[in-house]
Amino acid sequence: MNTERKTRALQVGSVAVGGGAPVSVQSMCNTDTRDIAATLTQIRALEAAGCEIVRCAVPDMDAANALHGIVDGCTIPLIADIHFDYRLALQAVDSGVAGLRINPGNIGESWKVAEVVRACSERRLPIRIGVNGGSLEKELLERHGHATAQAMVESALGHIRIVEELGYDQMKVSLKASDVRRTVEAYRLLADQVDYPLHIGITEAGTTWAGTIKSAVGLGALLYDGIGDTLRVSLTGDPVEEVRVGWEILKSLKLRQRGPVFVSCPTCGRCQIDLIRVAEEVEVRLQQLTAPLTIAVMGCVVNGPGEAREADLGIAGGKEMGLLFRKGEIVRRLPQAELADALVEEALALAERLEEQ
Ligand code: SF4
Repeated sequence: MNTERKTRALQVGSVAVGGGAPVSVQSMCNTDTRDIAATLTQIRALEAAGCEIVRCAVPDMDAANALHGIVDGCTIPLIADIHFDYRLALQAVDSGVAGLRINPGNIGESWKVAEVVRACSERRLPIRIGVNGGSLEKELLERHGHATAQAMVESALGHIRIVEELGYDQMKVSLKASDVRRTVEAYRLLADQVDYPLHIGITEAGTTWAGTIKSAVGLGALLYDGIGDTLRVSLTGDPVEEVRVGWEILKSLKLRQRGPVFVSCPTCGRCQIDLIRVAEEVEVRLQQLTAPLTIAVMGCVVNGPGEAREADLGIAGGKEMGLLFRKGEIVRRLPQAELADALVEEALALAERLEEQ
């Protein structure tokens, strides 16, 4: 795994992005931004799940005017997502957002772009250049035939150049397509050419089930190559799931730690307890835990004791019973009906001890 690739350091409100900072997890509200109360309720749910930067769409001036109230009630950095209208960008900056997602090439006359860049530079706000395969410039589509990885990179370089020529360099870049291979290829090409932090994601990835898989494959390939400074998983579903999936991707590559890492066996003919129910129940009940624990839920004596011993906590199933391991030692022998409760209880107690340390 390549951990050598270093990008420039940016500050998105309280969150460092790039320059070797931990890969941060973002999401985007799907509430009506004008509804401040609903948006803040969703932001709090996202934050509880581990969201570190949140973005809101700003389609009109009413939404831009609502940003002030959202920023006031929000404890994580807020990014305003803007297309085309420089006045919305200026209003967002005035409202105290921590950054903009806007493509300078789409704003229109150069004086409008200059106004937006000047407003950002006065507050040192980062601008994310967000290239999307579905909305590439006509000229690039004509020249490349369709939205190829190369065309996406050229689009990003064009937007970057506009901002650089205005003397500003606080930028991060995304190159999202709904096609995993094209997205990975585009990020690899761009990573060789610029050292701006990269916001990675597979856009319009699909429903929670399919989108999770596509995102894990695409983001996993990039992160393994050391590409990606902040990520957003895009799912047609509850954005809280985006955050959970984002964390799981980072945890699986050991790039970040947050909450339990579960090890559980697929079960087979040797399993004599209802292991699937125990594993699912324990996972749901420990969803809010932030302490980094490894928890093994194993069906029988073949691999069970080994995995359970390696984990912070584990159970190894036997005949309608299970052995509970803590830090490698058998601490209890339990009937199967009590396994989930006992594991959850032990995990909460261990998490509390970790937090006290
Ligand atoms: Fe089967 Fe035991 Fe392996 Fe689980 S741990 S898959 S029950 S052999």
